[in-house]
Amino acid sequence: MSKIWIFDLDDTLHDASSKIFPRINQSMTAYVSHKLNISLADAHHLRNEYWKVYGATLKGLIQNHGVNPQEFLLNTHDAEELSKFVKQSHALKNILKKLIGKKIIFTNAPLHYAIAIIKALNIQKYSSDIYSIESTDYNPKPSHYAFRKILKKLKKRPNQCVMVEDDLANLKTAHKIGMKTILVSKQNKKTAFVTKRISKITYLIH
Ligand SMILES: [Mg+2]
Repeated sequence: MSKIWIFDLDDTLHDASSKIFPRINQSMTAYVSHKLNISLADAHHLRNEYWKVYGATLKGLIQNHGVNPQEFLLNTHDAEELSKFVKQSHALKNILKKLIGKKIIFTNAPLHYAIAIIKALNIQKYSSDIYSIESTDYNPKPSHYAFRKILKKLKKRPNQCVMVEDDLANLKTAHKIGMKTILVSKQNKKTAFVTKRISKITYLIH
């Protein structure tokens, strides 16, 4: 039975935390402030609220303000600008090249951004499909809905899949529905729902 490797994108295949996430965050707060005509401080506060309730700024904006999701995603993810911060890695390419099985990307980010980052990483060859926030009707991981939706699209059973991720909550759902899980993290956060932990993606194959 050939394996399906499901890769998260940000902070799993490349470092998004240092330069990309702070910029996306800033853009999201600016967008909310402008769109709802509130101060940046109030926008920041509202985003925190939506995070707690919906797990994402966007869901809160759709539900409470009828915001157009594509307008929000395009305005907050300047793919051309953000992909400049991506560092290509030969080690990453080699790992993906060597890995046997189907390889796909499953990210909470929008499609136009994911395509740009994958291109900047120069790994287009090694990922056959990209599942973005649009693929799950704007329901982000770790929702069961998001995982079920992509399994349906893949026409695969969970036990055929290995989820490779930096986020523990996402791996918890992956494990719950029956996937194998690999945590990519420098911190020792191995738990019952993590099959294996590696500190860097390039340690995926020994
Ligand atoms: Mg991630």
